[in-house]
Amino acid sequence: MLTNEYAKRVYALAEARSGEQKEFLQALYEVLLSLEPVLETNPVYEKYSVLERMIEPDRQIIFKVVWMDDAGKIQVNRGYRVQFNGAIGPYKGGLRFHPSVNLSIMKFLGFEQILKNSLTGLPMGGAKGGSNFDPKGKSDMEIMRFCQSFMMELAKHIGPDTDVPAGDIGVGGREIGYMFGMYRRLRNKFTGVLTGKGVEFGGSFTRTEATGYGLCYFAEEMLKCMKNDSFRGKTVVVSGAGNVALHAAEKAAQLGAKVVAMCDSNGYVYDPRGIDVAVMKQVKEVERARISVYADRVPGAEYHADRKGIWSVKCDIALPCATQNELDADDARKLVANGVTAVAEGANMPSTLEAIEVFQKAGVLFAPAKAANAGGVAVSGLEMSQNSMRTNYTFEEVDEKLQSIMTNIFHNSYDAAEKYGMKGNLVAGANIAGFLKVADAIVGQGIML
Ligand code: NDP
Repeated sequence: MLTNEYAKRVYALAEARSGEQKEFLQALYEVLLSLEPVLETNPVYEKYSVLERMIEPDRQIIFKVVWMDDAGKIQVNRGYRVQFNGAIGPYKGGLRFHPSVNLSIMKFLGFEQILKNSLTGLPMGGAKGGSNFDPKGKSDMEIMRFCQSFMMELAKHIGPDTDVPAGDIGVGGREIGYMFGMYRRLRNKFTGVLTGKGVEFGGSFTRTEATGYGLCYFAEEMLKCMKNDSFRGKTVVVSGAGNVALHAAEKAAQLGAKVVAMCDSNGYVYDPRGIDVAVMKQVKEVERARISVYADRVPGAEYHADRKGIWSVKCDIALPCATQNELDADDARKLVANGVTAVAEGANMPSTLEAIEVFQKAGVLFAPAKAANAGGVAVSGLEMSQNSMRTNYTFEEVDEKLQSIMTNIFHNSYDAAEKYGMKGNLVAGANIAGFLKVADAIVGQGIML
């Protein structure tokens, strides 16, 4: 429960203004809880109303996206871009195409992004965007027409020094390519306005792998420093089967672990011999099929049409990499009863506040999303630098920088938690370390009266 008067007041203000935005309020509550010791010892943040200024987005853009499906029918979706905070750099954050997208989800993701981007140490502000468009079952041409129409409006609000979107759920290399092509046509400029581009047109090596790989680098450092342990020989469960999950599974296996289960939104597969990531990539990335196809193809693998069942699979390490609130307190209790020793979040806010409490009380090492999945945006930041310099780093160069960024994020989060009396609590440490830089930038830039 919040005890600091300033934190309580700010939360009440957010509730009064945005009471229906439950995901945003959930993310805010977690951050405020962590910041209490900082607010107690640094009255300057209250004096300059830093939290009030931070919880209100700089700009929220909502627009109409009209496109034509293959049957010639006109379809209308809603597009969003929330430019949340630009104090430490151009706005940066992904675009999500999923039917569940609404303003609350955009705001929670944008708010988390402010602190995450700050943690990377790179100069990037926080933003998020997307649409309630459902890419599932759409033809390639329908995806292209939608992306082009979406960019027709988004182009008015972004730019390489203003706001640089990237991918997220439902937005991968194909969608970024179509949007980049449209932006270039509209502006007649070849600039680094989006990240996650194809490597043939300004994309960075390792961007595709970065979030999943970065997650494992973070978890490996956490295991080493807090438990004198590693991935080697461990049994791992990874939820999701998209960009983050596939590359987390790939890196966990490279680090010597056995990944035994993965899922999509319908069900999960259990493969006691270890998921064959190449087959999973073929099914999910190339064929864009359902995960059940993996079990049809791999002898010994089982499919269960119950996505939540994945948390009953016995494992040492769990990597939730699908979506927000996919892991609740009941799921957490099952994992703990089955002996899980570490949980690292690849998705954004996949664990509910109650689930995190279960892990922390049970002494499970817990790596929160905004620190552990910052690898994607970190390499996006490196893509921006490469575009500005008109140069390309090799895969190995980017991978090395990614490892060093993830290691630094772990140590900065760990140290911040210790400094404020919450040793070992990486949720608090990440929130504090991310907050301080942005808060000082807000104070330093004055009040525009
Ligand atoms: P993708 O669209 O590539 O994959 C999402 C995966 O999650 C799909 O397999 C999807 O299955 C599954 N999924 C969606 N909803 C559920 C659910 N309720 N239960 C179980 N599985 C579900 O997205 P990404 O991999 O890019 O993103 C995953 C998460 O990681 C998101 O929270 C995103 O915000 C976060 N993230 C992504 C980054 C990136 O670089 N891409 C960077 C940082 C964070 P289905 O096909 O059935 O929908």
